[in-house]
Amino acid sequence: MQYLSTRGHPARQSFSQVLLSGLAEDGGLMLPETLPKITDAELTAWRALPYHALAHAVLSKFIATDDIDSATLAALTKATYTKEVFGTDDITPLRKIDGYAPGMQIEALSNGPTLAFKDMAMQLLGRLFEFELGRRNQTLNILGATSGDTGSAAEYAMRGRKGVNVFMLSPAGRMSAFQRAQMYSLQDANIHNIAVEGVFDDCQDIVKAVSNDLAFKRQYNIGTVNSINWGRISAQVVYYVKGYLAATTANAQKVSFAVPSGNFGNILAGHIAREMGLPIDTLVLATNENNVLAEFFNTGVYRPRPSKETFETSSPSMDISKASNFERFVYHLFNNDAARVAALWREVDQGRAFDVSQTAEWKGLRERFGFVAGTSTHADRLATIREVYEKTGSLIDTHTADAVKVARPLVKPGVPMIVLETALPVKFADTVKDAVGFEPPLTADQQAMMKLPLRVVQIAPDVERVKAIIAGR
Ligand SMILES: *Cc1c(COP(=O)(O)O)cnc(C)c1O
Repeated sequence: MQYLSTRGHPARQSFSQVLLSGLAEDGGLMLPETLPKITDAELTAWRALPYHALAHAVLSKFIATDDIDSATLAALTKATYTKEVFGTDDITPLRKIDGYAPGMQIEALSNGPTLAFKDMAMQLLGRLFEFELGRRNQTLNILGATSGDTGSAAEYAMRGRKGVNVFMLSPAGRMSAFQRAQMYSLQDANIHNIAVEGVFDDCQDIVKAVSNDLAFKRQYNIGTVNSINWGRISAQVVYYVKGYLAATTANAQKVSFAVPSGNFGNILAGHIAREMGLPIDTLVLATNENNVLAEFFNTGVYRPRPSKETFETSSPSMDISKASNFERFVYHLFNNDAARVAALWREVDQGRAFDVSQTAEWKGLRERFGFVAGTSTHADRLATIREVYEKTGSLIDTHTADAVKVARPLVKPGVPMIVLETALPVKFADTVKDAVGFEPPLTADQQAMMKLPLRVVQIAPDVERVKAIIAGR
C-alpha cells in the first residue's frame, strides 16, 4: 500500500511516512495509490468482530505489513477502543429516533474523553504517533490552533505520550466554560495550553508564522495533527463500517449516512468506505450557514470564502469556508487526474472559485458517489433539537441537529438513515437550553472537572513569545 499526491508529485510514501507528514511536497494531499476493496466474505466475517478487531481489519487494508506489522497494529487498536475510554462495549452504539423520522438512527461517536467525534480517530493517532516516533527515536512538537474541539481532542490523545509535546493556542476568553475546563485542567507535563489575547484567526496566524520559519520548524521538529492527517481519515472509515454492520443483518442491505460537515474530513471517510464497496446508498452532507460544500454539491461551483465572510454560528465546529480535505474527493471525481486537480487548486490558492458544473463528471456525481447536500439555519437547529427531544426523549447537540434536519426529507423506506452524532449536547449547553428550556445535566465527573485548577499561560498575540515557549521546553 503506497500513497501518492493529488497533484501528481512522483514520490510514493508508506502509511507511516504519511502519518507524520502534512501536505505532499507539491502542496497536494496524500491518498492511497489504489483504494482497497471490501469483499462480501470479509463483510460477513466482520459482523462478529468487536470494534477494536474491526478497526484492525479495516486499517490493515491501508497499512502494509512491512510498514507496521499486524500484531503491533492489533495491540494499538485493542488498547485504544475500550469501554473505559468510549463508555460502552459497542464503542459507537446506534439509537433509533423513529418517533421523529421512521428509519432514522443516531450513531454515537462522541462518548470519548472530549465528547466530540474527533476522539474516535485522535485517540488512535496518539498511540500511532508514540509508536512511530519511538522507532525513529524522534521527538515531535505539535503546534496547533483551536477554537475548541480539535485542540482538546489532540491534547487528550497525546497527554503522557512519549516523544510528543503539544503546544495548543486558543483565543483567550472565547471558548465555553466547559471547553476551557476540559483543555486547561490537564496537568500533563507534555501538554502546553497557550491562551492568546485575540480571536481564533490570531492563533492560526501565529501557527502559520512559526511554521513558515523553516529553520525553526526543522530545529524543533514542529508538526500538526489537523484534519488532513490521513491517519485520522483512515481511522474514521471504521465507524462507517461499524454503523453499517450494526444497522443491517445481511450484506444485500444498504444504509445511508448523514454527516455534519466542515473540513470534509468526516464525510471523506464515508466516501472512502463507499468506494471500497461498503453498501452505502446516500451520503448526506449537511452544512450550517457556512455552506461552501453544500453549494458545490448543488451547483458545481466551489467558492471558498475568506475568514471575514465566515459566520459565527451555533454549530461552531462547522464554521469553515475552505474545506481542507475536499481536494481528495475532487481527485476521485476527476478519475485521479492530478494535472486537473493541480490546475483547479492553482485557482483556489489564489483565493478564486472554480466551476465544474459543465463537466460530465459533475453531472454524474450524485449517481456515482451518492452525495446529496443541504444546509440548516440557527432556527432549524433549535426546532430540530426541540422536536427530536419531544418526540423521542433523545437530546442532541447543534451539529448533529444540522444533519438530522437535512437528512429528514431524504429518508427512503427500507434504507436506514444513520446520522453521525459529532458532539454531545453538554458541550453546547447554552443553545440546547434555548431549544428545550434546560441545560443538559453534567455528570459527577464533569462537575468535578469544572472545579479543577487550570494550567494555561496567557500571552499577547506574539510569534516570538510562542517560539520562546517552545524553545524553553
Ligand atoms: C470537527 C467537527 C465537525 C466537522 O467535521 P469535518 O471533518 O471538519 O467535516 C462537525 N461537528 C463537530 C462537533 C466537530 O467537532
